[in-house]
Parts: sequence; structure tokens; C-alpha cells
Amino acid sequence: MKALMMQQPLLVSSLLTHAERHHGEQEIVSKRVEGDVHRYRFRDFAQRARQMANALAELGVLRGDRVGTLAWNGYRHMELYYAVSGSGAVLHTLNPRLHLDQLVYMIEHAEDRVLFFDIDLLPIVEAIAARLASPIIFVAMTDRAHVPTSIALTAAVLCYEDLIGTSDDHFEWPQFDENAASSLCYTSGTTGNPKGVLYSHRSTVLHTFAAALPDALNCSAWDTILPVVPMFHVNAWGLPYVACMIGARLVFPGPWLKGDALYELIEAERVTMSAGVPTVWQGLLAHVNDQQLSFSSMRRTVIGGAACPPAMIAELQEVHCVDVIHAWGMTELSPLGTVGSLKPHQVSMSPEERLAVQARQGRAVFGVDMKIVDADGEEMPWDGITTGELMVRGPWVIDMYFRGAEAGPNRDGWFPTGDIARIDADGFMQITDRAKDVIKSGGEWISSIEIEHVASLHPEVASAACIAARHHKWDERPLLLVVKKPGSTATADELLAFFDGKVARWCKPDAVVFMDAIPLGATGKVLKNKLREQFRDYLLTA
Ligand code: ADP
Repeated sequence: MKALMMQQPLLVSSLLTHAERHHGEQEIVSKRVEGDVHRYRFRDFAQRARQMANALAELGVLRGDRVGTLAWNGYRHMELYYAVSGSGAVLHTLNPRLHLDQLVYMIEHAEDRVLFFDIDLLPIVEAIAARLASPIIFVAMTDRAHVPTSIALTAAVLCYEDLIGTSDDHFEWPQFDENAASSLCYTSGTTGNPKGVLYSHRSTVLHTFAAALPDALNCSAWDTILPVVPMFHVNAWGLPYVACMIGARLVFPGPWLKGDALYELIEAERVTMSAGVPTVWQGLLAHVNDQQLSFSSMRRTVIGGAACPPAMIAELQEVHCVDVIHAWGMTELSPLGTVGSLKPHQVSMSPEERLAVQARQGRAVFGVDMKIVDADGEEMPWDGITTGELMVRGPWVIDMYFRGAEAGPNRDGWFPTGDIARIDADGFMQITDRAKDVIKSGGEWISSIEIEHVASLHPEVASAACIAARHHKWDERPLLLVVKKPGSTATADELLAFFDGKVARWCKPDAVVFMDAIPLGATGKVLKNKLREQFRDYLLTA
């Protein structure tokens, strides 16, 4: 029997019309590349998004066309999130920290028709323009006075504010199939060419519902959210959509992500929640501790993208009273998969036990189904011990890569994540490694993340990365790379001794190398492949 309910497609534009109608007074605050702070309300944002939708139509952007952005977190980027997707085109966010070859590859692969960019990124845009085979339209995201004059760009650069200023603010958001593409994000492609993940309106709206839930990112109209995670890193983990769905106040940091700048913004704007990768919080915590500061408004923060060291969770919660929401996800998952919110019976655990649970990547949010499998694809038990490859499925999980191989990445309806994990009886999943980072020592697997977690507990360790180095007898053995805190006198032997009793003897690193800095990739994650190359033969030759 056919149900008798309204058929309304789940469209990104509906988030904006809701925000305008029900939270029009809510504020969006942005630090701008022009150097000042910009403030306006959701109702102004909605009006300008409609003007931009008209401007896009004037530029000849049609349904399904790809529109690129090379921009930091700010209100104009937010307007494009809605103007582009809302009018039926596809928002393609590009990460300015990527290598030029990759940016050119992505723009050509996606066939972007327009590229919107923040003016401080002009040198990158000029380099891209010189390499593109077909012409595209460039739009500088600023006002007329700040539009850069570029001799290198043969095509004229359009001005964002001119486009808005000359466009009508009447625009009916079109209604269309919710399975149409809304945005496109490429994985950073540490191996091979980047691969495009093409989200739909439906997958985005469903992901937004799930992300906002209390046991997920736990957002409400009472929040002031600071997305530190960039809008080019998997749609800032969905926060630009969540904020519209629930009417939260938004604070955008622009390109200023160092500890001091973030702290000042958090305090000045009374931010209540934030989200970012662990390396960002490392910088923020170092600043707060150096200057003996405290947080007066921030209550919780989402940490994901890489494993959050338990020492960081403990410090944020116990010293700074900021709750940590440890989350796991991937570009291929829009990105949310699991969140480490405790269950009621876990609250009575000892602080150590609770921290151990929080260091795991958490339980599946509704919509994501997961399992772990062995090399033959057999499902492994949820005993908290057995590890296997993590497989996921759900309405916001990728089916096929954009213009990818016919068969797509999936195996029997499940997406193989490339992560190795265990799952406990409470359904808490713990990533032990990415398959390519695991250390294979004489037939046994050693978790590099576990070694890094222990190292992070040492009081003189600022950051640590564990990689496989070649070994004459065991094939691979763990090598620990450490950046010490300023003034530390800790020796390699002391650090190695710190592992005694904390990990099985055969998992203890063979050596420690001190470094000034650990190389990070375009999304702030440790570049393990680069380190592996650099230290491949270290144990054979040291
Ligand atoms: P890329 O694959 O280009 O790094 P993603 O941002 O999609 O881009 O990275 C997804 C991967 O990041 C996951 O497969 C996993 O290995 C890692 N990851 C994400 N969140 C966590 C987390 N909380 N703990 C450990 N690893 C994580």
C-alpha cells in the first residue's frame, strides 16, 4: 500500500530557507582575508545567497555544472555552499594546501566552469591558470577595492561583491530530484591520483540530521560553533549545514588557525563548541598552557580526522573543562561514521577506564552500519580484541568515485575503509591503524596508533609519530619519531623505558629519533608515507 505523506525532496536549499525563516536573527561572524571582522545575520546571508544564485545563472552556470572554490572558512564561502548547490550546480571545494599538480588535476577532472578564490590565494590561482587547458571564469571573493590586478591571469578576474550587488535578491530555489549531486570533494590522494566523492542533496541532508544529534556532534540553537576544520575538508564535517538546520551561531576563523589567533577568537566571540584535527588542538593547547590561559565559554570540541591522543583528551577535559567528542570519518562518508559519546553505564567507570573508551573512535551514528572482516571477508567478532578491516554502508557512504572505475570501490554492498579496527561489545570501534600504516613485525601486527598514544602520555613529548622501519630479522619494526617540548632533556633511552609495562614487550619501539617538526599533509595529518621513505633503512644502518 502506498503511503499518503507529502513527497518533498531533501534539498540543501531547504536548510537555508529554514534558517532564514526560523533563525533569521542568528549571527555569522567571519575573520576576513581583507583583515577585518565581518558580521551579519542569517537573513542577510540568505538574501545574498539568492543574489549569488542569480549571478551564477547570469554567468551561464547550469544544473550539474561544477563550481570550484579555493577559499578559507568565511561567510562568502558559506554563501557559495548554498547558492551553488541550491541552484542545482555542484560545489567543488579545493584544498589550497595541496600540490599544484593535484589542484590542476582536480579542476580538469571535475571540469570546473568557475573558480571562486580568496584573494590571499592569488599566487596559487595564477599558477593554476597557467596550467589549465581550457579557460574558466575566475571570481575574487572580495569587493571592488580589493580585487587583485593580475597580469598573469589572461582572463579578467570578476569581483564577488559586484556580482552580488548587481543581482536581484528574488530567486526561487528550484525543486529537483534529491539524488542530484550537491557537492564534490576529492580525497587527498596519498597514493595515486585524487579520487572524487560526489555527494547528493539527499545524502547531505540525512548526514546533517545525524550529525546534529545529541550523541553525535550535539549542536543546538544555543551554540556558537567555530568550525576550525576547513570548508574544503569534507564540507567542514557538515557544520555549515548543521548550523542552518538548528540555527546555531557561526564563527569563521579565515586562514588564521594558529593557537593564539584561535584562542583570541574563541574568547572574543564566546564560542561554545569547535571542531578540528588533533594537530590544531596541539597548537591551541601549547598557547593556552604557555600563557596560562583558560577557556571561559568553550564547553566541548569535536576531534577527528586522525586519532586523538588520550593525553590530549585528558588535558582538555580535566585541566580546561572542555569535553572531547572523538569522531571518526572519511571523505567517502560525508564524513561522519562514528562518535565516541559515552553510554549511561560507562559514566560510573574509573577515570582511566573512561579515558580508554573515549580514546576509541566511538559508536556508529544511526545511518551508518559497520563490521570488521578478515582477509577472506569473514565477519569478525565484536570482542574488543580481534581486529579486521572496517567496512561500512549507509545512505551517506560512497557508492562509486566520480568518473571512477565501473565497479566502484564497494565489496558486496559494503565500502572497505582501508582502516584496521576492533569493535567492543558496546559497539565502540577503535582504529588500530590505516592498513598501510600498520607495522608488520615477524607475522604480528603492531598498532602505530597505540605506540603514539603511549608516547603522548610522556610529559616531555610534544608530538610523536610511529612508523615501520625495515629490519633484517623481523621485516619491519616500530621506529618512534618525537618532537620534544621546549626545554626537555629526555633521552631516547628514557623514552623507550617509558613503554615498559605499557605495551607488550615485542611492541616496544626499537629506537627513538628526535625531530624539530613532524611533517603534516594538506589536512593537518602526519605524513607517514613521507616519514617511511625518509627512515626506511634507519634500523639497518643506524
Ligand atoms: P584522506 O584519506 O585523504 O586522509 P580523509 O579525511 O577522508 O582523507 O581521511 C580518512 C581517514 O582518516 C580514515 O580512513 C582514518 O584512517 C583517518 N581517521 C579519521 N578520523 C580518525 C580518528 N578519529 N582516529 C583515527 N583515524 C582517523
